[in-house]
Amino acid sequence: MKQPSFTIKTFGCQMNVRDSEIMAQLLAEKGYVESMEMKDADVVILNTCSIRAKAEQKAMSLLGALRKVKKRRPGMKICVAGCVAQQEGEEICRRMDYVDLVIGTQNLYELVDLLESVDGTSKVATSMSNSYEIPAFIPSMPSLTSPGGPQGATPAPSVRKFLTIMQGCNNYCTYCVVPYTRGREISRKVNDIIEEARVLVDAGVQEITLLGQNVNSYGRTNSVTAEGGEYSFALLLREVAAIEGLKRLRFTTSNPKDLSPDLMRCFSEIETLCPQFHLPVQSGSNIVLSKMNRKYTRELYLQKVAELRSFRPDISLSTDVIVGFPGETEADFEQTMEILEDVRFHSSFSFKYSDRPGTRSADFDDKVDEQVKSERLSRFQKRQDQICLEQNSLYVGKILPVMIEKVTDDGLMGRTETNHIVHIKEIIECSPGDIVSVTINHAGQHSLNGRIDSSNQ
Ligand code: SF4
Repeated sequence: MKQPSFTIKTFGCQMNVRDSEIMAQLLAEKGYVESMEMKDADVVILNTCSIRAKAEQKAMSLLGALRKVKKRRPGMKICVAGCVAQQEGEEICRRMDYVDLVIGTQNLYELVDLLESVDGTSKVATSMSNSYEIPAFIPSMPSLTSPGGPQGATPAPSVRKFLTIMQGCNNYCTYCVVPYTRGREISRKVNDIIEEARVLVDAGVQEITLLGQNVNSYGRTNSVTAEGGEYSFALLLREVAAIEGLKRLRFTTSNPKDLSPDLMRCFSEIETLCPQFHLPVQSGSNIVLSKMNRKYTRELYLQKVAELRSFRPDISLSTDVIVGFPGETEADFEQTMEILEDVRFHSSFSFKYSDRPGTRSADFDDKVDEQVKSERLSRFQKRQDQICLEQNSLYVGKILPVMIEKVTDDGLMGRTETNHIVHIKEIIECSPGDIVSVTINHAGQHSLNGRIDSSNQ
């Protein structure tokens, strides 16, 4: 009998990539096989993102295109998952009656049962509860490759993996949908995380990135150990770092207000913890930060950056910035440019503000003109690109440990501890996951070039 097939199209962040891996494994465990062609699949899942209008539009237009395919193949099941599903479940089914199933961010693990209960009428399963517990999840070999991930998603080397440690967020930044689409902060049990990390390392994974919307507050809102009691993210880092065979450890994302000296100290005490930190600032203006409900000031942010650099002077910092937040004046924006000059981020993700459904800022007055937003964004990105090049040029002439990710006929590709991509136009006997010493001989805006250092021979 032909095995049923599935395709998962993932939009947005690493959290969604991870959720898609979980869905793929749940289906594979029930005998489904992955289909590379969406039009030929028995089950099509769109794992959506609603962090920005653009991400949502992309998913909705693909869903529109699937109407024709479904007409030709009425047996195909179409499922919408992720943050747009959580937010607009009923509305999606009202507008697109050919959608069979809409599942929310807390209903992931019911996917197969819900799919198999589909009976021609659209089903919406988007219940959300504050007492939700993230089930233990142990990856099996097939899920060590990312199904249908967004362009540029980690191809299938088994050397780097993301590991989700928590879901949701309690911070309610006024522009953000996450607390509404992923619910309140829920941390996974320490033992489940350690067991998953061990399975990954045993399967050949050498670098793990711990993933959450605000990892700094891990273990604060629910008990994560059998004994109960206090537990911190810094403690979790130390436990994961102790796993034999793990070469590199990273984490993302952090809200600066929860960045503790305890966590900063990890960067000078844990050898496998990479000197790279993503610390979203969003704006350099205290007026805007307050309207965003970010709960820190520019002064506190800069103080924490200075403290972090005192623990690890070579740390590479990246950030997120929103330009054109409602009410943002030219003077406010200038302060964002000043933060960029002060911190000199190695890289950043910067976006124009867009209203998101259900967020407080969507009702704020003084929306900034689209043209002005675009001008500010290009000014910010232009200066950031210059700083990227200036910061990357500081590595030229240095010998750096590079973890190889790709071995091709023309050379090698890998990453430094500071998460810089390095291209090496040489071939030596090595495999993905090996760490080789590389002399950097050229710096670009977004990557470095190097040659194998004689110390490897
Ligand atoms: S901390 Fe991050 S995920 Fe949480 S509400 Fe703010 S922007 Fe959203």
